[in-house]
Amino acid sequence: MFGPERDRELGVSRPVAPPFHPSSVYAIPDLDCLERISDGTDLGYIYARDNHPNGIALAARLAELECAAWGVVAGSGMGALTATMLAMLKAGDRIVASDQLYGRTSQWLGQELARFGVTTTWVDSSDLPAVRSALATPTRVLLVETISNPLLRVADIPRLAEAAHARDCALVVDNTFATPVLCRPIEYGADVSIESLTKLIGGHSDVTLGAAFGSDRNLRPQVALVASVWGMSPAPFDCWLTLRSLPTLALRVRSAAANAREVAEWLRHRPDVRLVAYPGLKDHPDFELAGRMLDGAPGNMVAFELQGGRSAVNRFIRKATGIPFCPSLGDTGTTCSYPAGTSHRYMNPAEKVRLGITDGLIRLSVGIEPLDAIIRELSRGV
Ligand SMILES: *Cc1c(COP(=O)(O)O)cnc(C)c1O
Repeated sequence: MFGPERDRELGVSRPVAPPFHPSSVYAIPDLDCLERISDGTDLGYIYARDNHPNGIALAARLAELECAAWGVVAGSGMGALTATMLAMLKAGDRIVASDQLYGRTSQWLGQELARFGVTTTWVDSSDLPAVRSALATPTRVLLVETISNPLLRVADIPRLAEAAHARDCALVVDNTFATPVLCRPIEYGADVSIESLTKLIGGHSDVTLGAAFGSDRNLRPQVALVASVWGMSPAPFDCWLTLRSLPTLALRVRSAAANAREVAEWLRHRPDVRLVAYPGLKDHPDFELAGRMLDGAPGNMVAFELQGGRSAVNRFIRKATGIPFCPSLGDTGTTCSYPAGTSHRYMNPAEKVRLGITDGLIRLSVGIEPLDAIIRELSRGV
């Protein structure tokens, strides 16, 4: 009753905004139709954990942006990563992973995946000879991030892809900090690209969602199956909200990156700032690589170290109240995070020192506010 009634309400018009379909299950006209949906001859829906129109619409639009052959949306960035890796791996397999991955990803590999007999070897992914030598032992997946956290090292994706493929290993790239606006890993030879849509792509701190994209169509059904049966499916409303974010994505990313460049320059001249890490600054180790890998802008993330350590950071957080201290990134507004206390909290002290995660380090996610408003707020704290 309800479906046909609703269609009648629309009359001869069509909505301009994409419709929202919260239904958890779909009515199928007959058994022949069930067969055609099940074998993929017809597009149709049966059960929302497997598929729903808002998820399919979002995956399709994002896959175009990523220049990928397929996309699968999952309930979070971690869900997208988990679905992809579980689809590719089995007990006894080995992963080579960057030693500067997102904290929860490192934890997942080291603590969770290890329980299922998959081992991880850590490597500095900016050190290509070290990567090649790690790949000399049979490896199923090489996992890196386009731009790392918090020191914003940039991955040389074409070379990493070459090194991986020479050993029959797949390259998976977490592209969250770059977004498809600045980098499309698949175009550079990666097999899979992962995005946490929670960050810049969602862009308004109001959804938790992720997606995986690939070049090989044969992998898609397996990733989609894992996402469904392991319960990583996305909520229709989150997909709908994220679809709404896409038309402004390039505007937001480019405008935030333009602000980030100015903020990095400004920070460099502050007396209490010891170090500024931004791949758009000439003294960043990946300045040239960023020019090649990232499409015209080195992102919106800036890390800087305050002279006075933890107490100086605390003062910054208390004074610059217009820059919320929150462990996420990619909002339209500028936010800050404290790697030593949040993302890298459980890393041992020696490792923190090695990676440059000091007690005075603040990571900014620069937003799209007018630049002078950001600088005014920063100068209350620095
Ligand atoms: C946030 C983040 C993730 C995880 O995404 P969620 O949506 O929080 O699950 C993965 N990788 C990177 C680089 C991230 O910043």
